[in-house]
Order: sequence, then C-alpha cells, then structure tokens
Amino acid sequence: MDIHDLSHGVKAFMSPRGGPSFGLIQTTAGYVVVDTTSYPSVIRGCLENVEVSPSDVCLVFVTHSHTDHAGGISLFDCPVLAHKLTYQRIIKREKSKEIPNLPTEYFEDKHQRDIGGVLFEFMHTGGHTPGSSVVWLPETRVLFGGGCPKLAQRLSCPATGIFAGLKSLPGS
Ligand SMILES: [Zn+2]
Repeated sequence: MDIHDLSHGVKAFMSPRGGPSFGLIQTTAGYVVVDTTSYPSVIRGCLENVEVSPSDVCLVFVTHSHTDHAGGISLFDCPVLAHKLTYQRIIKREKSKEIPNLPTEYFEDKHQRDIGGVLFEFMHTGGHTPGSSVVWLPETRVLFGGGCPKLAQRLSCPATGIFAGLKSLPGS
C-alpha cells in the first residue's frame, strides 16, 4: 500500500488499485486506526512497515460493515467503535465464526471524543451502507470517509446521505 502523510501524525494507507484503505492517527494515548482492511495479516503487515504494533493501538473505528474494512478487527485487543447499524450488522455476520471480527461499542448520529489530545468527531452519513460513517479531525481538517466519497465520485451519483453529513462539518 502507498502511505500518505496527511498531516502531523496522520497517515492514510491507500491501495494503489482502489482496494481497501485505512487511516492511522497518532495520539499521546496510542494510535487510532480507521478501518482494518480485509484480513488481520494485511493490516499487521502495513503497521509493521511504520513500526506500529497492534498493542500500540488504543481505538479502532470501522466506517462500515463491508469485510474489506472490517476483516482485520480481530488483530486488535482495544475497543472497536462503529455506528449502531454497522455494529449490529457485523455481529450478526461474525458471531458464529471461529475468529470473529467484532466491534465492541457503538454510537448513534454523532459522537465526539478526545483521545490523547486529539479531537475525533464520528458522524453517521449512511449512503454506501445504512450504517456508513465518517470521522473528522477538526484540528488537522482531515476527513476519513471510508468507501463513501470515493464510491460516490466513481458512480457520479448524488449520495445525499453522505453530503448531508458533510454539510454539517464545522466550517464547511
Ligand atoms: Zn464498502
């Protein structure tokens, strides 16, 4: 994967052929991971490239339920946050698996959290899936949109849920 430094301590790992991507944000409390790729081995390898261990991660946020974003959850022992609809959908799918990829907590509509001095604003947008959500970092003005903005762009479709969510961003 290509690694992009978006801001100080904020990286995006982008698959060059449009496959699963994820984000990594450094805080004084540990790292926050946004999405987990398709498999634990894939995200483990990417984190090794930047010398981050799964045990250095203090929170995982999953933007939506699709397995190319939620398939690596089982690598992590920390809390795993998702929107309520995503949480319910993943648990239904994964509960009978030998090594399930399970979120541990959910939010509804909007959720704001300070993690190690970095402000995170989690917002439900819908659109790509019923539970699709984004996370906005107001201090660095970085938005992790999961598959939503890219998919909307590719399809040239008015993804009203996404853009309604984005309009509510402060300063946008
Ligand atoms: Zn998806």
